[in-house]
Order: sequence, then C-alpha cells, then structure tokens
Amino acid sequence: MQDGLIQVYTGDGKGKTTAAIGLIMRAHGRGLKAGLIQFLKGADSGELKILKTLGIPYCQFGSGKFILEKPTKADIDLAEKGLETVEKTWHNYDLLVLDEISYLINFQIIPERSIIRFLKGKPKHLELVLTGRAMPDSIIELASLVTSMQKLKHPYDLGISARKGIEY
Ligand code: ATP
Ligand code: MG
Repeated sequence: MQDGLIQVYTGDGKGKTTAAIGLIMRAHGRGLKAGLIQFLKGADSGELKILKTLGIPYCQFGSGKFILEKPTKADIDLAEKGLETVEKTWHNYDLLVLDEISYLINFQIIPERSIIRFLKGKPKHLELVLTGRAMPDSIIELASLVTSMQKLKHPYDLGISARKGIEY
C-alpha cells in the first residue's frame, strides 16, 4: 500500500468542508475506508444523513456553540476526547477528514505542539485531510497538498444567511 499524505483545505472562502466530503465520496466509491471527524461543530448538516446512509462513520466533538473569548472546560474536554478517539481508531481508515481542526490551535483549545506531535504519529498508510480557516504554518509545513479557498464573494456579505441544503 502507498503512503498516505496530509492534505490541508484552508482559506476564508466557501468549500473546505464540502471538498473534504467530496473526497470521502470518491474514496468510498473506490472501496477505501473513509471517515469524518468534526471538531467544534455539533450541528446537523445535510451531508451527515448521506454518510449515515452509506455506512461511512462520522463523529462530532464540539458543543456547536461559538467560542467567544476563551474556550470552556467542556470545549477542551471534547477536543481532547476527539483527538484520543482519532488516535485509537485511525489505523482502521484509509482516509480520515479532521474537519475544522485549525480552530483547536487558533482558539488555543489544544497546544500547537501537541497537535503537531499528534499529526506526526499518523499511521503511514493513512491519508489525512485537515480543514479550517487560518491553518497554522506549522501544519501547512507537514502537508503535501495545501489548497486555499479564497473568498472573492460570499452571499453572507450580501446579508443572505445560511441556507439549508447549501450551507448546511
Ligand atoms: P462549506 O461547509 O460550505 O464547504 P467551508 O467549510 O469552507 O464551507 P467554514 O469556514 O467551515 O466554511 O464555514 C462554516 C459555514 O460558514 C459554512 O456554512 C459555510 O458555507 C459558511 N461560509 C464559508 N465561507 C464563508 C464566508 N467567507 N463568509 C461567511 N460564511 C462563510
Ligand atoms: Mg468547514
């Protein structure tokens, strides 16, 4: 089996999570074992129903609430539990998406050096996809594929709020 790479989808434009889900579909279609782990998020979204239908495992480790200033103990506990769960199960996967992982560092929920140590310990064969805005340079350094979704326009700026089936 080929070695898996680390991929990063970052930037302030729309499309990071949907690209990662698209890759899960492609991998699944080729008989690879794919899964999704979401940090911070706790909300329902259309794609989760399809993952369930297809028997693709997913798990959320977030309160779903906005972190305003400092992360709460609950935010930290959930993030730590998420990372532990990944480390316990990632050898079972060919492709794993760690959605919104950049926020663990950006909101100082988990120390940057701990995340780097964690990523360096990934199973050799595993393709790891990391998403989230403002991905730290230290993570970009580890990746072999980095795509930045650049916002040229977003309906949010026109006052159009999140639409069911499009944004979630
Ligand atoms: P998507 O989940 O649609 O692929 P994303 O993962 O790139 O988007 P996030 O940064 O995770 O986007 O943002 C979470 C939510 O905010 C999503 O519903 C997304 O559509 C929306 N969003 C994305 N980019 C912007 C933006 N520039 N301004 C406002 N809202 C945005
Ligand atoms: Mg996203």
